[in-house]
Amino acid sequence: MNYLNKKSVKDIDIDNKKVLVRCDFNVPIDENGNIANTKRIDESLETIQYLIRHNAKIILCSHLGRPKGECNMNFSLAPVAKYLSKTLGKEVKLAEDVVGESAKNLSSKLNPGDVMLIENVRFHHEEEKNDPEFSKKLASLAQIYVNDAFGTAHRAHASTAGVAEYLPAVCGFLIKKELTVMGNAIDEPKKPLVVILGGSKVSDKIGVIYNLIDKVDTLIIGGGMAYTFMKALGYSIGTSICEQDKINLAKDIMVKVKEKDVKFLIPVDIKVGLEYKPDTESKIVESDSIPEGWMGMDIGPRTQEIFSEALKGSGTIIWQGPVGVFEWEEFAKGTLAVAKAVAESGAISIIGGGDSASAVEKLGFADRMTHISTGGGASLKFLEGAILPGIAALDDK
Ligand code: AMP
Repeated sequence: MNYLNKKSVKDIDIDNKKVLVRCDFNVPIDENGNIANTKRIDESLETIQYLIRHNAKIILCSHLGRPKGECNMNFSLAPVAKYLSKTLGKEVKLAEDVVGESAKNLSSKLNPGDVMLIENVRFHHEEEKNDPEFSKKLASLAQIYVNDAFGTAHRAHASTAGVAEYLPAVCGFLIKKELTVMGNAIDEPKKPLVVILGGSKVSDKIGVIYNLIDKVDTLIIGGGMAYTFMKALGYSIGTSICEQDKINLAKDIMVKVKEKDVKFLIPVDIKVGLEYKPDTESKIVESDSIPEGWMGMDIGPRTQEIFSEALKGSGTIIWQGPVGVFEWEEFAKGTLAVAKAVAESGAISIIGGGDSASAVEKLGFADRMTHISTGGGASLKFLEGAILPGIAALDDK
């Protein structure tokens, strides 16, 4: 599938038309009911403002949290409607339901440039089941469907894919940007291409390795997934996390990188802890001899230097997954060093969403990256070369 051939809001006449826009408003809500981080909403403003300027009648929809198919007001989109009203400088009314009388009534009264929001689509269990009748009901609210929720583009749900069966369907600017930047980085990377993979599990990242193996010049492995590779090499890994059933796969990957002449780096030293907790006793050890009872929780200082050196002079860097337990200061130094080296490399830097995005933001390097994806799972699937149902469902040019 050619992702870049999908129609966007710019390829369709939206003047005076009712447009259903699937956004990713799945924002964290604090104990006082306030939005703790508005980034996801802010990322969708470009599309919404474009639709306002072009006189569309705008019906926004999203999920928030996991209400498990029930109408649970703890997961109401009310705080989002409030924030949007303030940010857009116009009232954004919230329907009391998703596809019921309130949504129908409010949407029928929209004037060009008006914006409304329907309630959390996951108040209906039909949403995650991609139920055709529910998709039809959603579609009946509007004349055009715009998907701008990259974070849920890897899910085939009613509001992310099903609804596209019943309406002209295009993407918004956020999805367009994600597809263009990540698509270019994979299809025609400025060389050399360095891929850094971390996070907890090898199993999550296998697809990315195999998809990029013919293009990558240097593959760097850190984080929890590195210990499965070390085990495959016969190292003692103490109590570090390891996927026993992926050891053969790790061996296979190491054979492949050799065949393809890919530079392959795993940690040479490790910061280990006695227990999996922030203030545990810790020390630096050689990566091939982690003592019994100790677990690897971050890359060591020599590895930080080696990884940083490998990033110098690269053309494109794709980074998915922190190289240590970055949430705890004691084990964040490796991820910090990598973030710094990526920022200073001058390369096109693509940061996968989820934990990698949180790490880069938390450590203060967000504005020095070329692109931080808004979708953790979705960016992983994209880098794997998998089909994203929310994109596949959109109309081709
Ligand atoms: P993922 O969601 O697979 O990208 O994994 C991200 C998580 O991996 C983060 O919460 C990190 O704390 C965790 N992580 C990174 N390195 C390690 C490690 N050495 N041991 C255990 N967890 C790790």
